[in-house]
Amino acid sequence: MSAAADKNTPKTAETHDFQAEVARLLDIVVRSLYSDKEIFLRELVSNASDACDKLRYEALTDAALLDGDGDLKITISADPKARTLTIADNGIGMSDQELVDNLGTIARSGTAAFVEQLGQTEGGDNNLIGQFGVGFYSAFMVADKVTVTSRRAGADSAAQWQSDGKGSFTVTPVEDDTPRGTTVVLHLLKDEKEFLDAARISQIIKTYSDHIALPINLIGDEGANEQLNAASALWSRQRNDITEEQYTEFYHHVGHLFDDPWLTLHNRVEGKIEYTNLLYVPSSQPFDLFQPERKTNVKLYVRRVFITDDCEDLLPAWLRFVRGIVDSEDLPLNVSREMLQHNPLLAKIRSGLVKRLLSELKKKAKKDAEGYAAFWDNFGAVLKEGMYESADYREDLLTLARFRSTNQDGLTSLADYVAAMAEGQEDIYYISGESADAVAALPQLEAFRARNLDVLMMVDPVDEFWLPMVNEFEGKPFRSATRGDIDLDAVGTAPEADDEEITPANNSALSSLTALLKLTLADAVKDVRESNRLTDSAVCLVAGDDDMDMHIERMLRQHNQVGEAAKRILEINPKHPLIRHLADTVAEKGGDASGELDDVAWLLLDQARIIEGETPPDPAAFARRMADVITKGLVG
Ligand code: ADP
Repeated sequence: MSAAADKNTPKTAETHDFQAEVARLLDIVVRSLYSDKEIFLRELVSNASDACDKLRYEALTDAALLDGDGDLKITISADPKARTLTIADNGIGMSDQELVDNLGTIARSGTAAFVEQLGQTEGGDNNLIGQFGVGFYSAFMVADKVTVTSRRAGADSAAQWQSDGKGSFTVTPVEDDTPRGTTVVLHLLKDEKEFLDAARISQIIKTYSDHIALPINLIGDEGANEQLNAASALWSRQRNDITEEQYTEFYHHVGHLFDDPWLTLHNRVEGKIEYTNLLYVPSSQPFDLFQPERKTNVKLYVRRVFITDDCEDLLPAWLRFVRGIVDSEDLPLNVSREMLQHNPLLAKIRSGLVKRLLSELKKKAKKDAEGYAAFWDNFGAVLKEGMYESADYREDLLTLARFRSTNQDGLTSLADYVAAMAEGQEDIYYISGESADAVAALPQLEAFRARNLDVLMMVDPVDEFWLPMVNEFEGKPFRSATRGDIDLDAVGTAPEADDEEITPANNSALSSLTALLKLTLADAVKDVRESNRLTDSAVCLVAGDDDMDMHIERMLRQHNQVGEAAKRILEINPKHPLIRHLADTVAEKGGDASGELDDVAWLLLDQARIIEGETPPDPAAFARRMADVITKGLVG
């Protein structure tokens, strides 16, 4: 930031650079071929409405802020001669510092990732702009200069923000009698004259902003004043009086999301406690879904007055994908945000909302499996957080949960899995890993596959957290395919005997080999044993019965949550030619084989580690042993 040197600007004008993300965003916005440019008006009206909501809330405790002007409203006017369009509100306003902070940076989380994505699609995906809603900055789609004059409620001074959207902006104090609130003046581009036309403005407002609860007035020629919208809170109207488009536009406004809602829940609860909720579930993933703050996104109103959009106790974090509003009839109007914490009334509203949402989701799952699968792909991983955070809803969430599995193409529920369990199967088998593809390739699944047993894939990181807390479903315990001993002899269909049934290494030879491997690998493994899991591969690693699943341990280690890796059990496949050969060698040579087998033992262990996606702890030794063994094989 530096004082402007330009002689024509007043001395006190300060020039500021836009935050890098904003500069990039503006660059993209200006270059964009986005066809629905008219949405800039929706964005500016939405901001003006929020500003009025904020003032109304602050005035509950400090009526002086209204300063005799309590008719909050938005006013639009056009000046064809000057080619300017003006959007004014008498809401909360901004101080000079707020002008710098709010209109020079983007505070919303997920924005950096979004800008990144926009940047990569090089003009090709202008739809993204519409989906994300670039807020105030969308003004630069139609204007080459924007002036924002603002006085914060209660403040003596006012300031003016101005920019051509190219890298920097100025903020200048204004000393005249600027009214409270914010006035945005757009100097329209030559090609955008349509936005000066009263009929066009009226049509845009009716399309996008009819639900705004304040009057939006258009000042026409000779000062004629026309109210463009219905100006009553959408949620207080009857469901039958609201069109789907109006519901969708309200969702865009309140949710800052621009897809269509997948689910809309509008109802009034009457009785001991009274409230109205208008909640939405998006049809795509919002950009900030996995931000560490896990902020919920439902706004709280009390008798039509906006209270806060930051009420942690209104919904649990695992429903943070839900957008919308709750309007309480019972909370006191002057409720402070602090008073909302641990408020018993709010706790009741919250449990009412959660129950309603979960029961609607259940209905959707029944009625529209395909739509529900899309929902689950978007938000399943978030809902699963509830399985370990909210014991009260665990059963409901287990019912709602869907999984991919090794034998099925689509998603399956736990109930369906249990109903289709094989003869003799007592457990719900699962395997965890990074992705369905990675998991499907693991050797630990070989015996399950040979017996045609379905195994659920747990590939969301959150699975590792709820699984240890949820031991069973409908009396069937969850069982990891990569942990503990597994005996599938009595389960499912025995694999068809091959024409030439392979005889495993004989028992005593195998015990000698196992003993020798244990001796060689010593502290590097917990145990070495014969495998019931493998049919094709020579070796694999498994976790001990009481140890953590290997996948979670790896995850935790990546986040430095656990120190040293727990030791693994190395399982060997007695039918594999390599293992049979080694067993024979040991049987023949006894202890003399140990020197010869040393390298092979370590190679087997490293190989098992590599299959797990782990790096051998000593890659140089691995490479040397590998070269030695190959050389022996080739050169003899
Ligand atoms: P968003 O509305 O998504 O937060 P914007 O870029 O549209 O993002 O606006 C940034 C911020 O600027 C708003 O959060 C608000 O604090 C402030 N702001 C924008 N317009 C107004 C206005 N008319 N009155 C008061 N504050 C405003």
